[in-house]
Amino acid sequence: MTARILVVDDLLPNVKLLEARLTAEYFDVVTAMSGAEALAICAQGQCDLVLTDVMMPGMDGFELCRRIKANPATAHLPVVMVTALDQPSDRLKGLEAGADDFLTKPVNEIALIARVRSLVRLKAVVDELRSRALSSRDLGFGDPLVQAAAAVEQGGSILVVEDRASASERLTATLSPHYTVTIERDPQQALFVATDMEPDLVIVSMDLADFDGLRICSQLRSLDRTRHIALLVLAEADDNSRVLRALDLGVNDYLVRPVDRNELIARVRTQLRRKRYADRLRETVHASIELAIVDPLTGLHNRRYLDSHFSGLVNEALDRGRPLSVMVLDVDRFKSVNDTHGHDAGDDVLKEFAQRVRRSVRGVDLVARFGGEEIVVVMPDTPIETARLAAERIREKVQAEPFRVHRGRVTITVTVSIGVSAIETLEETAASLLKRADEALYAAKSGGRNRVIVNAQAA
Ligand code: GH3
Ligand code: MG
Ligand code: MG
Repeated sequence: MTARILVVDDLLPNVKLLEARLTAEYFDVVTAMSGAEALAICAQGQCDLVLTDVMMPGMDGFELCRRIKANPATAHLPVVMVTALDQPSDRLKGLEAGADDFLTKPVNEIALIARVRSLVRLKAVVDELRSRALSSRDLGFGDPLVQAAAAVEQGGSILVVEDRASASERLTATLSPHYTVTIERDPQQALFVATDMEPDLVIVSMDLADFDGLRICSQLRSLDRTRHIALLVLAEADDNSRVLRALDLGVNDYLVRPVDRNELIARVRTQLRRKRYADRLRETVHASIELAIVDPLTGLHNRRYLDSHFSGLVNEALDRGRPLSVMVLDVDRFKSVNDTHGHDAGDDVLKEFAQRVRRSVRGVDLVARFGGEEIVVVMPDTPIETARLAAERIREKVQAEPFRVHRGRVTITVTVSIGVSAIETLEETAASLLKRADEALYAAKSGGRNRVIVNAQAA
């Protein structure tokens, strides 16, 4: 996977060194020699990940990181601090500034590449979500990126898979004041528990007595219900190769034993923040997909969906020489329902009307709210006589059972008029079918309403 890495350092030799290593691994590299220069590159969307020195004159690495994370346009960029300082307090300061990771100078080559690869992969997922969420802007959701960045980072549920009592007790003591912590000592149970409770974060020990913690990680990543959970592993200091393996499997971060309390809290917080950000974007994407195709009042497909699928169904029928029918249904004298019983009662009638129509047709039929009190049903593989009978059945169902409004206190008798058309020639289109069904509907209205009229030469 190619990605563009921004290397920031005030010393040219350092910049050149990292640039050479990254280029050797086929990453694109851009460089900056000050925080201000780096911010400009980030703001222009010219990089996927930032590797920054900490001590720089003017704006230092902490400040650079804070500013990147504070701007909704750049908050999603992973930031890795590269520092000669190996004091826990500095690492903590970096994580608190929102850094995603730390590398100590001299930079270990394997750690560098592994970290960059894993962060780039994560970012690719978030990028996909971001672009889909952004396309929902037009649908009145406000700015999804700002909302996602503002997703509050309080609390969260954590599952710890650790069979050593002393270690799990220490973790619980540190984390439980801030989070809901569940300990699972039996690795065989871990996957079931995780699927069941869907925690925000799972912490897995890589030194379980007779179970490979990486197996749990890979299983969590492969299941639909658990693949978005943040994953953190606990490793022994000399276990480099398995840490790299873990990152390759999609584990988000690791902690080396003995675990520093503050670092634990900071890394957990970073992971939870990242998960909330992605969760929020995912919700926006789902909601916007729904909104784009579903009518909120009736739950039927909306006109937009009909417009984009109707022609396809017609063409398919024409190609395969199959019949296809269309009905347009319009509630009779619906305006007077509103006028007499109020707009809310009108809404209730529409909901119930939509349900009766939906239940009267097949699953493969496309049912869409066309506008106000009008529904269109497209019926593939259906000759016109079958469609007429289906329409007649709906008309009868609407008329036979009065509609309940005002929480069932009032009942109203409702009727519907229906126009039906079907493919007759090879020149037929969605528009011509709709037009003829509409003409039939008009005839049904002027013929006295509460009736089905078929528009067909042969009928
Ligand atoms: P006809 O028998 O000729 O179809 O008469 P009608 O009153 O049903 O037709 P008309 O087109 O004159 O009125 C439709 C009414 O439907 C007018 C509009 O206010 C109402 N309407 C449209 N959408 C909604 C809605 O979502 N909720 C409610 N309550 N009313 C709606
Ligand atoms: Mg009407
Ligand atoms: Mg109407």
